[in-house]
Amino acid sequence: KGSGTIAIQLLHNSLRLHDNPPLHDIEKAKYSSFVPLYIIASDHPFDQSRTPLTVNKSRSKFIHESLTSLDGSLKSVGSGGLVVLETKDYPATKSEEDDDDDDDDEEEDSSEEEFSGSDDGDEASQYAYTPDDLSYAHALSRFLSSSVLPLAPNPSSVHVYYERETSLPVIRRWRCCLEKALKPAGVKTKVYETHNLHAMDEYLARGKGGSPPASYGAFCKIFDSLPPPDACVPTVGELPGLPKEVKGTGVPKLEGLKVDMKTGGGLVFKGGESEGLKQLKKTVIDNPAWAATFEKPKTAPNALSPSTTCLSPHVKHGTVSPRLFFHELTKAYEANALGGGKNSKPPVSLHGQLLWREYNYLYAYSCPNFDRMVGNPVARQIPWDDDPLLLKAWKDGRTGFPFIDAIMTQLKEEGWIHHLGRHAVACFLTRGDLWISWEEGAKVFEERLVDADWSINNFNWQWLSCTAHFYQYFRCYSPISFGKKTDPNGDYIRKWIPALSKYPKKYIYEPWTAPPSVQEECGCVVGKDYPDRVVENHTETSKGNMGRMAEAYKIHKEGKEKGGGGKGGGGK
Ligand code: FAD
Repeated sequence: KGSGTIAIQLLHNSLRLHDNPPLHDIEKAKYSSFVPLYIIASDHPFDQSRTPLTVNKSRSKFIHESLTSLDGSLKSVGSGGLVVLETKDYPATKSEEDDDDDDDDEEEDSSEEEFSGSDDGDEASQYAYTPDDLSYAHALSRFLSSSVLPLAPNPSSVHVYYERETSLPVIRRWRCCLEKALKPAGVKTKVYETHNLHAMDEYLARGKGGSPPASYGAFCKIFDSLPPPDACVPTVGELPGLPKEVKGTGVPKLEGLKVDMKTGGGLVFKGGESEGLKQLKKTVIDNPAWAATFEKPKTAPNALSPSTTCLSPHVKHGTVSPRLFFHELTKAYEANALGGGKNSKPPVSLHGQLLWREYNYLYAYSCPNFDRMVGNPVARQIPWDDDPLLLKAWKDGRTGFPFIDAIMTQLKEEGWIHHLGRHAVACFLTRGDLWISWEEGAKVFEERLVDADWSINNFNWQWLSCTAHFYQYFRCYSPISFGKKTDPNGDYIRKWIPALSKYPKKYIYEPWTAPPSVQEECGCVVGKDYPDRVVENHTETSKGNMGRMAEAYKIHKEGKEKGGGGKGGGGK
């Protein structure tokens, strides 16, 4: 690349050395120096959401550990380690704030080649940039102008590598960075799409009219019509160091960041690439028969040791590449078939789970207003109730239904719950019992999950609330009998709600049915030591809600017949 050329990788979702195409290209290109850059928005560190949420300790700690591990790995291959910027260290001056109000179209596109390929689509512009987006772009701009550009012979010898994002809040942030920092600086940019198995536009090009397919089955056909996902690129082995004037910063202490240190912290998930690869080895590579015969519905929401791979935080934060996960699974299927085993298939297999992920992303990528009901063309408009007290009881794990409360407590403590546990509590909050909007539930998950993922989370909340993608609202999870099937003794409840730990098996799912003497003996009286039910009778309430849903569906259908909203995918 010639002397004086500087590469910067703007890190976000690929906190790893393996299968990291931008990093691999930087290694091949032989730059004079390299800055691996990570920017933390000081007000909401590690937050991806549209609203300022206090991100809890589970997720913050996971990302923090992942960054710390990446810092060490980068150093082990010759890099000077991470440069981490906190936006609070780059406050905008008054004149810069005024500049932010200017029309950006005046900016000259002085970058070359790949830049034109980075248009992220019209939907992104439907939301104005948040203060977070602006401060992020501002930190990048100031870092470039004060620390990097003075070291380069000219701006075009600074090359910024970043990943093209497909979920709206991050798209918005990158567009803001491009418009406010990279374009004006005149640096070159190179964009990659590494967070999925194929580029989203490749899927859309094979669908009808540029919209995502209406069913998962149709999506699988599109997936099968494409060549297999590209092979992983080799793990990097040697990187250029930092420019000598730029110092590695290490990762700021978690305690110094604005993180809610009280919620979360059960700490079952450890962040970092080596931890992620260890988990992949344990569940898939060393266990091909288990992985190849995995069937999601046969796993238990309330098993005390997890019954699924638990790789979601690693896939989300890119400490395990989705392609690596996919290809290791392919090997497991081959090995199992060779030994005479019968492989499971999508939708229930592990490949099937990764295809769900792709399908979810495709919707989130192509559907406007995907995180809300209003203005979202796939969402049925349902007149949900607004009841802050009920919402709080659900969020705090104090609904009086032990199975629901145990799941919500695990979520609060550990930041992770089983997929069917997510089903149970999402159904309970929305169409099952409390008739509260899926948007409220999605926000709580986004705040608390260690694997919180804007695209997957919103898709699944729409599904569970029968707002979109799934419409069998007459099929409802019981907060009592569903958990009993896989945990008749209620051990999961005993673990997460110690107050109920002495209850006989007969009453543990319905403590209000225990005679007062039994409640006294167990040291937990309902209404005093454990809350009364927020819903008197689940069966009657859910039946009533089915009626409300039928009415909402009827209005939706009539609106459609009259040519109103409610069409399929948004289209790109
Ligand atoms: P496994 O069963 O081992 O699956 C392997 C991988 O496939 C996962 O790591 C994940 O990347 C992907 N995957 C699995 N299930 C799904 C699914 N239904 N949809 C899309 N991808 C899937 N998952 C998230 O990663 N982030 C979220 O914010 C999230 N929110 C959810 C909200 C609700 C209401 C529901 C019902 C599900 C949500 N899921 C979310 C999907 C799913 O529950 C988790 O991905 C899964 O439980 C993670 O555990 P695992 O890694 O052991 O999964």
